[in-house]
Amino acid sequence: MVRREGEWARHYQDSWLERSGSPALPRWLRVVALAYGSHDNDGHARFKRGEVALVLAGPFPRGDVPKPLSRQRVHEAVRQAVELGFLDEGSIPMCLIVPAHDVRKGSLDGKSKPCPVHKRRAS
Ligand SMILES: [Zn+2]
Repeated sequence: MVRREGEWARHYQDSWLERSGSPALPRWLRVVALAYGSHDNDGHARFKRGEVALVLAGPFPRGDVPKPLSRQRVHEAVRQAVELGFLDEGSIPMCLIVPAHDVRKGSLDGKSKPCPVHKRRAS
């Protein structure tokens, strides 16, 4: 295989999102898949409170009452994904950040809005 520096490829976010629901994968990898499958043009993937905990706890059998993963386990999975370099520092369950040097998402207008979660945390 010949590698050329700076080569890149596009990935479909739907496939990543699908993988985030796989109980066969370790939790940190499911967090990564969720981030890569959900991030916006700015690299931030925002979630409602408890949403990541539900994704990591599933899939749920039909008729089963979803029981979210504990907050501590969610934070551990996010931290591990950061430590392994798959997510940027600053990632939290309400906003996972993909590394800008690894992942890019474009838009036709080239614009992206600032992340409201991290804007709020910075102030
Ligand atoms: Zn953010």
